[in-house]
Amino acid sequence: MTATPANTMQTTDKEVRTTCPYCGVGCGVLATPNDDGTAQVRGDTEHPANFGRLCSKGAALGATVDLSGRLLYPEIAGARVSWDNALSHVASSLQTIIETHGRDAVALYVSGQLLTEDYYVANKFCKGAIGTANIDTNSRLCMSSSVAGHKRAFGSDTVPGNYEDLEQADLVVLTGSNTAWCHPVLFQRISKAKTDRPGCRVIVIDPRRTATCEIADLHLPLALGSDVALFNGLLVYLADHDAGNPWFVEQFTSGSDAALKAAREDVPTLADVARRCDLNENQLREFYEVFTRTTKVVTVYSQGVNQSSSGTDKVNAIINCHLYTGRIGRPGMGPFSVTGQPNAMGGREVGGLANQLAAHMDLSNAQHRELVGRFWNSDRVPDKPGLLAVDMFRAVGAGKIKAIWIIATNPVVSLPDADSVRDALSSCELVIVSDCIRNTDTTRYAHVLLPALAWGEKDGTVTNSERRISRQRSFLPVPGEAKADWWIVGEVAKRMGYGASFNFADVGSVFREHAALSGFENAGSRDFDLGSLANLSVEQYDNLQPVQWPARVGNASGTARMFGDGRFYHPDTKARFIAIQTVAPKNLPTDDFPLALNTGRVRDQWHTMTRTARAARLNEHTPEPYAEIHPQDAQRFAVVEGGLVQVISRWGEVIVRAVISTNARRGSVFVPMHWNDQFASHARIDAVVNPAVDPISGQPELKHTPVRIRPYTPKWHGFLLSRRALTIDGVSYWVRANGRQFIRYELAGEQRPDHWPSWARQLLCAQDNDVSWVEYSDARAGRYRGVRMIGKRVESCIFVAPTPELPSREWLASLFDKESLDESERGALLRGQPPAGQQDIGPIVCACFSVGRNTLIDCIRSQQAGSVEAIGKALRAGTNCGSCIPELKTLLALQKKV
Ligand code: SF4
Repeated sequence: MTATPANTMQTTDKEVRTTCPYCGVGCGVLATPNDDGTAQVRGDTEHPANFGRLCSKGAALGATVDLSGRLLYPEIAGARVSWDNALSHVASSLQTIIETHGRDAVALYVSGQLLTEDYYVANKFCKGAIGTANIDTNSRLCMSSSVAGHKRAFGSDTVPGNYEDLEQADLVVLTGSNTAWCHPVLFQRISKAKTDRPGCRVIVIDPRRTATCEIADLHLPLALGSDVALFNGLLVYLADHDAGNPWFVEQFTSGSDAALKAAREDVPTLADVARRCDLNENQLREFYEVFTRTTKVVTVYSQGVNQSSSGTDKVNAIINCHLYTGRIGRPGMGPFSVTGQPNAMGGREVGGLANQLAAHMDLSNAQHRELVGRFWNSDRVPDKPGLLAVDMFRAVGAGKIKAIWIIATNPVVSLPDADSVRDALSSCELVIVSDCIRNTDTTRYAHVLLPALAWGEKDGTVTNSERRISRQRSFLPVPGEAKADWWIVGEVAKRMGYGASFNFADVGSVFREHAALSGFENAGSRDFDLGSLANLSVEQYDNLQPVQWPARVGNASGTARMFGDGRFYHPDTKARFIAIQTVAPKNLPTDDFPLALNTGRVRDQWHTMTRTARAARLNEHTPEPYAEIHPQDAQRFAVVEGGLVQVISRWGEVIVRAVISTNARRGSVFVPMHWNDQFASHARIDAVVNPAVDPISGQPELKHTPVRIRPYTPKWHGFLLSRRALTIDGVSYWVRANGRQFIRYELAGEQRPDHWPSWARQLLCAQDNDVSWVEYSDARAGRYRGVRMIGKRVESCIFVAPTPELPSREWLASLFDKESLDESERGALLRGQPPAGQQDIGPIVCACFSVGRNTLIDCIRSQQAGSVEAIGKALRAGTNCGSCIPELKTLLALQKKV
């Protein structure tokens, strides 16, 4: 077997320059392995994406690299096997299915977590070797509407600008993007630019009031799904106020008249826009006026725009306004799609979507098919698109796809109508899963498990949202028998008889082939071109510096901006306006399901939590899944703050904690996307989400599902903190979160135990010696509090009450840091409140330094810390990753009002 090489570029003896594996900002990271299997991580001051900054997730990367829970050996039917066995089994099973049912009976479902080299080999395996286009990616869920919108407008999937544009703009419009939480380092860059240049304005367009609004001069809380009306209205306003750029429109675009006509028909007047978007007319006019008079405008958009059954139209409605004003391709201006995943862009570059070919070429283009086929020496390149993600799993459920290979993703959690995905996998003839984690909601349906490398062990490249390719470098030894994904797929391909096309000596040779294909017979005809990187030596590849494509032959330093010359990639070189009219979301609220469910991310978790939930400090900020509900909706449906609430749709239901807030838009409910069956009993929100998709991009409508809510009223509520993991049986609701020295469980039950103390002993596995209990029980009132001690050390504690009103967990949690409690602490245990002289820090705001809300309020009041800087000086909060700064500002503002 070919060994996976461990390339390193060291800054000190052990420090390795690599890239964060989370969001599409693509921050540079300097990582140093520790002897205990963890790692130290700091921001790379030389990386142009972040210049040393890291957000809370990036800063905690070192705490996520231990080997607990890792999949380290290949398995077939749950039994460990050799790699040779596993690979031969996969190859022969796929071959048999192809011979019996045809090539399209096989599919790959891959991920924006893959490195470009992994992605390239997987795509070549499908489209060049097997001859099926049935390879799609979870990036379909993230930004496929942007891809489709770019291609309609530009003739290519090109992000025109770069991150510097965000700092140079005089107006940054953030639409459908909670940048503060989802792309925090970009948010910090915008925030700093605004501080440095107070004339710079930020406008946030989002149905919810999010942390991003902390830097907004204006927040437009538009009705869910009304983005097209908003930007069509802007196009009309620009035209009516003579704010277009007729020279640019004439020279470099086509279709402006039709687009303007469609926009006028859609929203004839400002009042129509205001009504459709449910916005205040004055606020709307302010947005339009600022946009009209500001030349340097960047419009940043993300999942709030893309994840819609009309996502592609929304993207083009935004691009239309930039084309109309000629604000594209120049410093400080342009439409800017920011991707959710670390390598969504790399996946696009290799053609990892079912309707694309490699190197930004098109399956629907016969010339492209011929070119790629010739380059790959393959006569099997398919001439029709494969199944897009949602349809792919429908085909699995319908038995049309007999074998699915899922790589580095967790579709049982993340796809809409997720229960039907689960059912499809459970009935599928062959499910192969390559992952680095042993137990996920998806691996439980795998017939074959293949252990993949994790971040820290991987080696290759990723591309961030500004087209910048960076190296991810390994700095940890390969654990167990884990292998690189490119290697695994290549070895299966070899065993299926395609060896000549998959003889890659190392990861660098995969990159060189990818780069060579991008430059093959390109001559400037295609946007994606890495021709200058096609002949890198091993050393040059190892030392590759971050570079923005295209990097054509003779231009190895890359390209900062695209379209500055007015040349686009349609045959006539002109950009296209797209005529758009508003289309309502596919599934509208009804009497039975009167609210609209919106889903998204929280500050400190990533995707399905397989990595971030390992870091205790990342679980402190939001330890429990929740539904954010407007107070009037809460009142209407009798939901109370802190209680449990069921969120129910035609597709499924969850039970989560209710957070009542005017930050929510009335008529909608927000629930985070992260929790799954590994961390909670009933919080897999994508089981509730409708499977409607955009007809052009196939991107699911993850931001708009009709739901109803109702209070969930168990007989008892409780929580439990334990130094060791427990098996939680016999409860109706549970959520698990790893803490520093303990695991936290939130609990609720529909049955009251006959005898609380016996129940508690059974639950906490009280087998140790020298155990003592401190207890209070009132069976009639349904109250129980028990603390299990070994000597003077707390081992576990459990608090139960008939309502959710229970002591704050933070002070009790702090006791787990202590080897011995003093008398006053022991005396205060059952109260669950600190003794005199100690403080309950309250819910964690700053995860880096575990600074709680109560501590912050106390600091603001007693020390009169009137600024973020003053808080930082006193408590260090906000001085490391800066992710909590928006919340610090909110707290400061609230305290000023008190
Ligand atoms: Fe990673 Fe945070 Fe940077 Fe995103 S913003 S790449 S999550 S450090």
